[in-house]
Amino acid sequence: AAAGQERSGPAALALLGPAPGAPCCPHGPALLFVKTSQGKEEGRRFYACSACRDRKDCNFFQWEDEKVSEARLAAREEYNRSQQPFFTHRQNVDRYKNFVLLPLSKRRFCQECQQLLLPAEWKKHSDHQFLCDITTAQLKSPSQLLYPLENKKTNAQYLFADRSCQFLLNLLIDLGFRRVLSVGTPRLHEMIQSKASQEEEFNVKSLLLDIDFRYSQFYTEDEFCHYNMFNHHFFGGETACETCRKFLCEENGERVIMVTDPPFGGLVEALASSFKKLMAMWRETEKEGHDNREMPVFWIFPYFFESRILDFFPSFSMMDYQVDYDNHALYKHGKTGRRQSPVRIFTNLTPSMIVLPEEEGYRFCTVCQRYVSSGNQHCEICNSCTSKDGRRWKHCVLCKKCVKPSWFHCNNCKCCTLEKHSCEKSDSGCFVCGKAGHKRSACPSLSRS
Ligand code: SAH
Ligand code: ZN
Ligand code: ZN
Ligand code: ZN
Ligand code: ZN
Repeated sequence: AAAGQERSGPAALALLGPAPGAPCCPHGPALLFVKTSQGKEEGRRFYACSACRDRKDCNFFQWEDEKVSEARLAAREEYNRSQQPFFTHRQNVDRYKNFVLLPLSKRRFCQECQQLLLPAEWKKHSDHQFLCDITTAQLKSPSQLLYPLENKKTNAQYLFADRSCQFLLNLLIDLGFRRVLSVGTPRLHEMIQSKASQEEEFNVKSLLLDIDFRYSQFYTEDEFCHYNMFNHHFFGGETACETCRKFLCEENGERVIMVTDPPFGGLVEALASSFKKLMAMWRETEKEGHDNREMPVFWIFPYFFESRILDFFPSFSMMDYQVDYDNHALYKHGKTGRRQSPVRIFTNLTPSMIVLPEEEGYRFCTVCQRYVSSGNQHCEICNSCTSKDGRRWKHCVLCKKCVKPSWFHCNNCKCCTLEKHSCEKSDSGCFVCGKAGHKRSACPSLSRS
């Protein structure tokens, strides 16, 4: 189904973006797509769900020019309502207040329903697995209590390793930020919230925007908004949108940064469009305008999306820091020799300000004026530190650029590529990694487990 844009190959899908007047599925306004062939639009345009790239999670589909009867519209609205969470955010906040009043022995969490239980509800969940004696510490780390929604095509919930999360937070603080708009970064939000409640002099605030509504059980409406970052949809309507806008106001000189770690399944253009809206919201908070400044952003994403991100945000640059995850077999920082995580920080802040930990091997390149990973050698010919993946790259005089260490120059293809490749196929490579033989949707570099 709707898989974002794929390079020229046969029958690719292109996202035409959020369209005014788009029909809604339970995840807010649908996105407009079109089939393409050889880069040309072909066939009928259609709407599909913005959030779920698997039809199993949301099967919304409508041709752009399709006439939808009143009866079907009414049925759809009814269906969308029925798909909304059982409790509202407000109700969840009240439930939490009652929950913390309970003695430890009466604090239960249903693992099947992923829900805090009040004693009156125990019976309904009696044949479900549950946890007892939920402590205040547990309530302060919901990302540990809830199971991660790893479903690759929808939530792709991969939680920061503590080391990476701590690094990000210290970096933000050192850079002088006091407000963090956490878009799809529940663990960073949680670290900030829990420090704020424990340490007197800790003065950083965070607002979490995430599609995972389970978090509404643990945070008030000022701390969490149910939000879809693929279509900039606030499920809580204008009130929630206003909460976000207020948060972006830099009151008392508290500077704002947005940190986001979206699912990697593609749709970069949809994400970019939403982030631009959040950035515009920030810009409009100040009557004088912020001159021509942009809201500072950390966009955490794999390095092979660099050119796609820069297409939309030319002011961004990619940092060498490798972001590690807890529940990710591949991107984990092991005790014995580390696996290289492909996930990086893209930012519109001046690269030289982003200080990377020297104890992890990062060093400052005075020519490039940024911190680079230990294996990243400054190439005298390119006049830059060219490695993208942390390994030492080699310069190819024929390609006039540095390439991966495992690549060789192929005189047939007139470019560097893997030694083992079939020359004729090399131009229709995967959109994500550029390798031939598979499509973006089957790209091994995207499968995180
Ligand atoms: N590393 C981060 C989590 C990133 S995983 C951390 O540890 O804090 C991706 C996050 O984006 C998840 O929390 C997931 O719930 C959220 N997400 C997935 N799809 C989304 C969408 N359409 N809109 C908003 N958030 C989404
Ligand atoms: Zn949907
Ligand atoms: Zn350099
Ligand atoms: Zn070079
Ligand atoms: Zn070459």
